[in-house]
Amino acid sequence: MSGHAVLLEGVTRTYGAGPTEVAALRQVSVGFPRGSFTAVMGPSGSGKSTLLQCAAGLDRPQSGAVRIAGQDITGLGEKDLAVLRRDAIGVIFQAFNLVPSLTAWQNVILPARLAGRRPDPARVRELLHRVGLAGREGHRPAQLSGGQQQRVAIARALLGRPEVLFADEPTGALDRGAGHEVLALLREAVDTYGQTVVMVTHDPEAAARADAVLFLTDGRIVDVLDRPSPEQIGSRLGGHR
Ligand code: ADP
Repeated sequence: MSGHAVLLEGVTRTYGAGPTEVAALRQVSVGFPRGSFTAVMGPSGSGKSTLLQCAAGLDRPQSGAVRIAGQDITGLGEKDLAVLRRDAIGVIFQAFNLVPSLTAWQNVILPARLAGRRPDPARVRELLHRVGLAGREGHRPAQLSGGQQQRVAIARALLGRPEVLFADEPTGALDRGAGHEVLALLREAVDTYGQTVVMVTHDPEAAARADAVLFLTDGRIVDVLDRPSPEQIGSRLGGHR
């Protein structure tokens, strides 16, 4: 158990009821080892986002158990769950989700400030430097490229030193070069800082940066590849790459 940053056991999540019921996840059991980088792939509607949401404690399954940082979240109330999410989890999205009127620096510290904290300025400076934004602390999102905006979002997610970083299509809106830089930062979180990364992606090249790739179909994990090449991933997806 202690080897996993996040563990899902028999997780089922359905939406709707009766004839319109959709099973987004069907009895999914999977562990994300501490200090590992896992990519999650599968066709649209296969349950990738639902898996990420359940694993991050943002959504509650109907049945099964989810353990985050050693804690079973099934029985946690909303308040305790919010605290666990704040302290153990960072999330980044395809659309960056930055506040347009705030600077890079202000965006990075916003969640901490909303939680009533005053982040150490030295830590904020170090993080912005680490993601390659030294000198751009005062820029607003519109003054930054897409890749730079995603790097602000990564710094924001890393501020609280979360054990797990969830990324939903983090390179989906970026060109190849910017995508590479984002993936390098995720890899660094794992290799240098021992954090755990779980990333949903459609891109075989992005997935090939992970230690393992899970394939979902119709709410089930149907395959796992360890350290696959982009070509192996492409052929598993049925593409002709
Ligand atoms: P993916 O991320 O792989 O595209 P999702 O996890 O978003 O898949 O969705 C899995 C299934 O659950 C799909 O059939 C989708 O239509 C359904 N679904 C997801 N979210 C909702 C929702 N809020 N209400 C109803 N159905 C949903």
